Amino acid sequence: MPVPVLEQIRDEMLCLPGVGASVMEISHRSDPFLAIQEDAKQRLIRLLGVPQTHEVLFLQGGSRLQFSMIPMNLLRGQSLAAKYLVTGTWGKSAYDEAIKEGPVDLVWDGKATNYDRLPEPSIWDQIGSGSYLHVTSNETIQGVQFQDLPGMPACPLVCDSSSDFLHRPVDVSRYGILYACAQKNAGPAGVTVLVIEKGLLQRSQKDLPGYLSFRNHAENDSMWNTPPTFAIYALGLVAKWLEETVGGLEAMLTRNQKKARRLYDVVDRYPQLYQGHAQTSCRSLMNVTFRLPSAEVEKAFLKGAQEAMLDGLKGHRSVGGIRASIYNAMPEEGVETLACYMEQFAAHHG
Ligand SMILES: *Cc1c(COP(=O)(O)O)cnc(C)c1O
Repeated sequence: MPVPVLEQIRDEMLCLPGVGASVMEISHRSDPFLAIQEDAKQRLIRLLGVPQTHEVLFLQGGSRLQFSMIPMNLLRGQSLAAKYLVTGTWGKSAYDEAIKEGPVDLVWDGKATNYDRLPEPSIWDQIGSGSYLHVTSNETIQGVQFQDLPGMPACPLVCDSSSDFLHRPVDVSRYGILYACAQKNAGPAGVTVLVIEKGLLQRSQKDLPGYLSFRNHAENDSMWNTPPTFAIYALGLVAKWLEETVGGLEAMLTRNQKKARRLYDVVDRYPQLYQGHAQTSCRSLMNVTFRLPSAEVEKAFLKGAQEAMLDGLKGHRSVGGIRASIYNAMPEEGVETLACYMEQFAAHHG
């Protein structure tokens, strides 16, 4: 979370200005909260340039619920299979849920090379018709990212953008659904943003359980049940920070590119010591992943990092190694501290 946002939350915790109560105490249907939710929505619409053809929904259940909700809404009752591009752990999890719902084609799977790369751009032309194509823009665990969408499939494009949401401008009109849980790049856990092309809402079948229907949420302005009010409030403040302090997503991208370049430069300067996981062409701007030559050196690296107050660098338990997550809110100074530590470590162990 950006520190100025945390400070504002602290200052307003007991009493929202002009309201006389905490955001956690007021009704979700009260005017002050309706204004907070609308403000968060409008800020997302402005930041991303969401066109009139699309709706913004605030949901719960994280991205994992979307792994199920998306096929339930978009695949159920359709004649064509869904298509999945699996570029890492999260894409695989999305696929595993989708196959419970209906026919799914696994178009590409990077497992053979341990998810260190993306498919060739030409694959986009080979994806024929389907009920939709699901991709993961940034594989959080492997650190593999689509820098741009290399093509357009013949069917609606559905993208899990959980770990790179709002990190750069995107052309929302190209997506049938763009979704992200907030807790990586956009706010605290508890709210999931779903930007959906309005035409797709017609696919939600009437007999879906109420909470699981996109159409239901859209018809009720994300208020069919009590939305996660605090998380939406905090997400709105992060969006405000992006607009007013950072200066928009283009400026955010410049910052993110600079931060990532600083770390990858160190990785590339000491290739014997730091073995990057992702192939150079698809390195993530959000999650920098690499291994050290042995478990002992890795342990020493992590111990020294802890002493330098650098926390959270241990790679995901499923793949090991080191992972530096440098989301939007990570300041350049934090990245600089890590880069300097890596250089010092290399001087002793290189
Ligand atoms: C974290 C993450 C998820 C899972 O999100 P939950 O909110 O825990 O369900 C899904 N996809 C990606 C790309 C993620 O980074």
